[in-house]
Formats: sequence, C-alpha cells, structure tokens
Amino acid sequence: MATYYRTPGIILTSFNTGEADRIFVVFTELFGKIRLRAVSQRKITSKLRGGLVSCAVVNLEFIQGKVGKTLTAAEVEIHYSNIAKDMKRLRTAFSIFRSMDVLLSQEQEEQTAWRLIMNSLYALNQKTLDVKTLNLLPYHFLWNLVSLTGYKPHLNSCVSCKGGVEDRDVFFHAIDGGIKCTQCAASKGIKLSPETLRQLRNMLISDTAFLSNTTMPLSETRAFRQASRNYLAHVLERIS
Ligand SMILES: [Zn+2]
Repeated sequence: MATYYRTPGIILTSFNTGEADRIFVVFTELFGKIRLRAVSQRKITSKLRGGLVSCAVVNLEFIQGKVGKTLTAAEVEIHYSNIAKDMKRLRTAFSIFRSMDVLLSQEQEEQTAWRLIMNSLYALNQKTLDVKTLNLLPYHFLWNLVSLTGYKPHLNSCVSCKGGVEDRDVFFHAIDGGIKCTQCAASKGIKLSPETLRQLRNMLISDTAFLSNTTMPLSETRAFRQASRNYLAHVLERIS
C-alpha cells in the first residue's frame, strides 16, 4: 500500500510536462523544496483543483513512486488575499518565489528558510504596507536566503586587508564575497555609503519589521540593488 505524505507548502512555480501532466515545484515545511506531479490536468480531481493556487500556504498530500512524487490532494490553508489582489505585491511575492526556486537545493529540510518565507509573506500581506517595506522586502529575503545557503557576505571588515571600514565609504565585490576598503578596492566594485552598509548589515540580523524605518539614501538604492543582483548572480554561479 502506498504511503501518503502530508505537509504544508508554497507553490514556487509550475510547468506542463508529458501529455497533460503538470509539475509543481513546492517549498514545503517538512521536506524542503520538492517536485510534485499532478497527473493529467484534465483528470485532476476536485480534491486537487481548488488547492493548487499560488500565494497561499497549501496543505499537500502526495505519494512517493519509483520515479517521483505524485500529488493526491491539495487544500488551501492560508490564502494571502492582500497579495493576490495587488500587482506590486504579487511581483514582490514572485521575486521571493524565484529566489527560493533557484537558490535552494532539492529535498533538504530547511526550517529557517520556512520561517523566513512565512515571515516575508505575512509582512507582504498586511492590510497597510508602506512603500519602503514593499521595495526592500525582496532584498531582505534574498540576502537572508543566500546567507542560509552558506554564502553570508562578509560585511564587517575589508575582505582583502581585514582593516576596519566604519564610517567610511566601501566597495562591494560580489566575487570576493563582501566589501573592500577604498584602498584595496581601487575604485572597482559598487560604492556603498556607511549608512547603506549599516542597512545591509541590519537586513541580516533583523526581521521585516525594521524595513519601514530604513534610512538608506534614495540616491543609493540603485547601487544597493545592483550589489544585490551581482551577489545573487555570483552565488548562483558557485552553486550551479
Ligand atoms: Zn582593505
């Protein structure tokens, strides 16, 4: 007799496969990131249809076969309705899902990552959401997730000379995994002010509540985004 496994999960992405099957890539609380096959979409039973929605915590049931896992039931537990009805929030949510999909390896239970995504979606679903939180949330998520996967950036001193960098401009170097002082950087890398560096460090030790109080200079949000993108690209190169 088949064993039925049950776990809450969040659908990160899905795609068609074979004749009419659909694969759901799901981040689950108990099994980490897994792939679940919904056999023949046309024949999907009512037990499944209502539960396979994005932007929700879904209670999933599946069986493990010789070649993979097959979905047997899906039921929505938490629907993030404030995210689902707002295009900007949806974009942020999908950026979070994408980060998870590309950064996490399969079938590795990851309780800290589960808490991180739960907290992020909870924050994103609040009735009133300020612009700062909305804009910075994907970055808060990304920096914390890369740190969880073992690529915590080095932000306390210069990665080259190990010298202190307090109250000075620094340069972020994705390839070297952190920041460099002005002398070692030789004008290469992405320039960050002391305030932006402080915010970046804060992101790694605070939950999402602090985002609405961030004081990153507007002129630097571009540099900050660029540093985030560069670091993600660097980490992806290392893990692939
Ligand atoms: Zn240095």
